[in-house]
Amino acid sequence: MDEHSLEVVTALHAITIASALCENVRRELAGRESILKSDRSPVTIADYGSQAIICKLIKEKFPQDIIVAEEDSTELRKPSHSKIMDQVTHHVNDFIQGSSEDVNSWIDFSSDCVTNRFWALDPIDGTKGFIRGDQYAIALALIEKGIVTLGFMACPNLYVDHGQPNGKRGCLFFAIRGKGSFQMDMDGGGRKTLSVSRVKNSSEASFTESVEPDHTDHLFHQRLAQKLNIGKPSLRMDSQAKYGIVARGEATFYLRAPSSSEPDYRENIWDHAAGSIIAEEAGGRVTDTWGQSLDFTSGIKMKKNHGIVVTNGILHEVVLKALEM
Ligand code: AMP
Ligand code: MG
Repeated sequence: MDEHSLEVVTALHAITIASALCENVRRELAGRESILKSDRSPVTIADYGSQAIICKLIKEKFPQDIIVAEEDSTELRKPSHSKIMDQVTHHVNDFIQGSSEDVNSWIDFSSDCVTNRFWALDPIDGTKGFIRGDQYAIALALIEKGIVTLGFMACPNLYVDHGQPNGKRGCLFFAIRGKGSFQMDMDGGGRKTLSVSRVKNSSEASFTESVEPDHTDHLFHQRLAQKLNIGKPSLRMDSQAKYGIVARGEATFYLRAPSSSEPDYRENIWDHAAGSIIAEEAGGRVTDTWGQSLDFTSGIKMKKNHGIVVTNGILHEVVLKALEM
């Protein structure tokens, strides 16, 4: 596959429209209106709208393909949520015409069948960051025979140039297996080929980690950083944007040791598929904290993996060794 392949063109188009919807919702502050799902994570109008648009556009071009996505319409269909349903439909209609029933049916194109060829979608990764007004990502990946072959990530609120964190915002990341990893502006301009940091000595390294203490073990990371003589403070950021941060050399590592409040947590495939190929194709290495490669074949949950470690490759073994503390 290359940048002209129908998969790449369709996916980039879909995540760009979904990003515009998310930013519209955010501007209207409607993003603060959330439903508490059974796992109590906030899910917003934008999550549903983004999933509806991406599923609709992928299915239109690839009717045979499976999409494994985070949301379904069960909550949205409840009469008590009719106001939210109306808002989702209104926002989707800014881009694609359809009734509320159409929108629900597009959301429900999602399945939980991990097959030989499927798309993994997180319509808003880092929903908590989105609600806070921080980082979030729309993450889409194509997985073939267990290997992530394409990854796409829109980060509408991420600064384009890490030398200018207060400058222009909105990044589109994408990677094609064997062809590299790239960053563009939201309008498709300003394309750059990404490469990870060349730091060889861990004392010169820096790392990124989640904002949410429930998602990772900040204290453990701090101890690990001391062991590796890392002097710089961590860059805390929501969503898979962290993979983009490593891919473009802004941080040397992305550490995700399981949180002490949930040590047996297993990661979801849609939280890592797109990000992992973006880091790998930029020259990075991605494993779990035990050094195993990520498993995208055993269902929605990465049952065989434990936490995540992303590095510039050069220092991967050094970090894994330090993790054995
Ligand atoms: P982040 O923004 O990197 O903190 O990650 C956001 C993702 O963390 C969400 O998409 C959730 O699927 C995931 N998540 C939820 N609970 C946990 C947990 N206990 N440990 C790790 N990740 C979690
Ligand atoms: Mg997520």
